[in-house]
Amino acid sequence: YRSKARGRGSYTLFTPDMVESHKRKLHLANGIEQGISNDEFVVYYQVKVNNEGNVIGVEALIRWQHPEFGLVMPNEFIPIAEQGGKITAITRWVIKRVCIDMPDLKQWATSPFRASINLSGHDLRSSQLFDYIYNTFKLYDINPENIEFEVTESAYLENFTLSNKFFRRIGNMGCAIALDDFGTGYSSLSYLTQINIDTLKVDRQFVMEIQTSERSRLVTGAIIDLAKRLSLSVCAEGIENLEQWNYLREHGCDNVQGFMFSKPIPLSELTCSPSHYSDSSFSV
Ligand code: C2E
Ligand code: MG
Ligand code: MG
Ligand code: MG
Repeated sequence: YRSKARGRGSYTLFTPDMVESHKRKLHLANGIEQGISNDEFVVYYQVKVNNEGNVIGVEALIRWQHPEFGLVMPNEFIPIAEQGGKITAITRWVIKRVCIDMPDLKQWATSPFRASINLSGHDLRSSQLFDYIYNTFKLYDINPENIEFEVTESAYLENFTLSNKFFRRIGNMGCAIALDDFGTGYSSLSYLTQINIDTLKVDRQFVMEIQTSERSRLVTGAIIDLAKRLSLSVCAEGIENLEQWNYLREHGCDNVQGFMFSKPIPLSELTCSPSHYSDSSFSV
């Protein structure tokens, strides 16, 4: 197998594995639109818990129940959708799904309650997404205060001016805005004073190392401190044990999510699970 992709005179050899993975990629890319109309996508929800163990929200995380490949995870198909210009269709589908699920979510959890939706950088470039959100909230009678949008630092900064404009309108409507995977990009911190967000999300990478690396503990503490000084709330992701939770709580982190409380699960399982987690249920 030969490719001229790198230009004249330079050849790359493709292994059978690479061909297989390329085929799968193409297959996924070509199936997105049909997947949406056939209802092959599903939203799983992961709880967000405050320091008292009360569920204060959920994060909507999409999966693709593919007819041939089984359950496909977002880390695989979201980049493919972005490359193929299909991400906005997926984003709209998730927004609509969360709106439909909202009455069940609100009834099960304590108030105030927020459901978080992930946006990709490509979403922010289309001026029509705001109108779609506005109209969908109207249609399903959604209080914008029950919704949060998460965007990664790098996606926000891809087009700073457009992002600022988009999130100013989103914020004015009453939605909250969270900066996802904070601290994992390579950006400078100067933009933090110029953006319109409510929450910093501490990436799982930092949480994972709390028990093993003094440096990671210090960096995690410093991120929480920075957020507090900017009057932002802090949510840490990827909490898997009590020691991590205790460290985060003691250092001022407001909310957490992670497998310790719950993996992302379908709505029907979620609303059958507890909306409060007591400390004692985790004692070792
Ligand atoms: P993210 O927004 O940072 O979401 C957190 C990811 O960490 C989720 O993976 C979640 O299942 C996982 N996670 C949470 N707690 C733990 C834990 O305790 N241990 C471990 N090992 N993992 C944990 P998931 O669902 O596979 O999603 C991966 C990424 O895909 C998300 O990262 C987000 O960037 C993207 N994504 C998911 N749904 C959507 C969507 O609807 N739209 C867009 N644009 N992106 C999405
Ligand atoms: Mg997220
Ligand atoms: Mg995240
Ligand atoms: Mg992350």
